[in-house]
Amino acid sequence: MFRALNDLSRILVIAIVLSALSGFLCLPALAAPPRTLIRNAALILTMDPNVGKGDLGILENADILIEGNRIQKIGHKLNRAGAQVVDATGKIVLPGFVDTHNHLWQSLIRGCGTNEDLNGWLAACVFPLFGFNFSAADVYAGVRLSTLDLISTGVTTTVDWSHAFTPAFVRGNIQALSDSGLRFVFAYRGSVDRAVMDDMRLVKQTLIDPNPRATFQIGSHPGTEPVFLPGLIAMSNLAKELGVKLHVHLLENLSQTADHAFEALEQAGALGPNLLGAHGIHLTDAEIKILAAYDVRILHNPLSNMRLASGVIRLPELKQASVQVGLGLDGGTNDTSDMFNNMRAAVGLQRAKLLTASTVPTVAGVLRMATIDGAKLLGMHDHIGSLTPGKKADVIILDPGAVNFAPRFEWISQIVFNGQPPNVEWVFVDGRALKRRGQLVGVQPETIAQAAQEVAKRIQRFLFP
Ligand SMILES: [Zn+2]
Repeated sequence: MFRALNDLSRILVIAIVLSALSGFLCLPALAAPPRTLIRNAALILTMDPNVGKGDLGILENADILIEGNRIQKIGHKLNRAGAQVVDATGKIVLPGFVDTHNHLWQSLIRGCGTNEDLNGWLAACVFPLFGFNFSAADVYAGVRLSTLDLISTGVTTTVDWSHAFTPAFVRGNIQALSDSGLRFVFAYRGSVDRAVMDDMRLVKQTLIDPNPRATFQIGSHPGTEPVFLPGLIAMSNLAKELGVKLHVHLLENLSQTADHAFEALEQAGALGPNLLGAHGIHLTDAEIKILAAYDVRILHNPLSNMRLASGVIRLPELKQASVQVGLGLDGGTNDTSDMFNNMRAAVGLQRAKLLTASTVPTVAGVLRMATIDGAKLLGMHDHIGSLTPGKKADVIILDPGAVNFAPRFEWISQIVFNGQPPNVEWVFVDGRALKRRGQLVGVQPETIAQAAQEVAKRIQRFLFP
């Protein structure tokens, strides 16, 4: 009977099942209070040079007033009338982190193939799962767990490149993202299959566009081989038709030079500012010039690149060529969502490779990559990425008094070199607290972890019978 239903009815049935499930897993979501005053923050990095000093927009002992879902005002001794007050005395405030590349379902395969490189890991832990037959609830469990991990580390916007194994997978994936309260970009991996393309249009129209916190992208893989090229061309065309970005994995592993990615991208007419390339490690000088000429954006995933023995991105050369680069956590290939660790790795990899501490990214540079630069390359900087009055209230508050962070010497560097997810005390998305005084709001993390555990057990049996 399920098969006999048309697409819309099927979505309705799945939505009803999932909302029942999410009601079971989560407490009711809390609405954003009309006014919140973050009072007397010791240090605010607005990431807006017009609001505060220097590139990072530094302010001290200042307040932030949030009205509904927007930042209304930043300044000293703001009027607290009618506001819920969050005392930020002794605390650091910055914009929520922007995670430009992730695969949230992959929390279900944490710990899998840890002694493999990219190709070994894909062969052992990902490709066989095309045959796993995920239910929407299975995917929901994994994605929901990842969203909690992201909120814990202070990520407020995530780009979820979904393998979209089946339409049910897509529904479970998006439902979990929607329930999380995060701002998200759903990148739907598509193919030449007409039914898949129809589903992509339908998903954008019915599940993404109506959600003010959601944005749509298209995922594909660049290669000149017949197994890749027709799909890439179709996806490049569909991205143009829908007016969205095309998001591909680009030269992550040395073996991918055989795919002739740039030739394929050119043939597909995909080169341009709407193209996002994850990783971009094994680039030649000529390819970096092409990226710069077409304003193609690169998503750097240092933790994943280390775990999968992929290599070290040529960040100084990319920066020198003015290519826009953001930071991503890249799902199961880095096993956890820790943006502080990711920033440290981005800095550390270049220093270790080049044997100098005077290279990019600097501490200030990596903080910008994790916030405003990520927002810019996603084309979302008009409403997120910095603490600018009028922008959406995606804000995090850190406690620098914890044993891993104190004492104060030079706090801005300490965010990068000492920061850990437990230092994130408050996370606001759209003015709504998703983490409050160190606790995730409106969810029971143990219940969600348990649901993911049950699915992971089945996946493990499937992969390694
Ligand atoms: Zn990836």
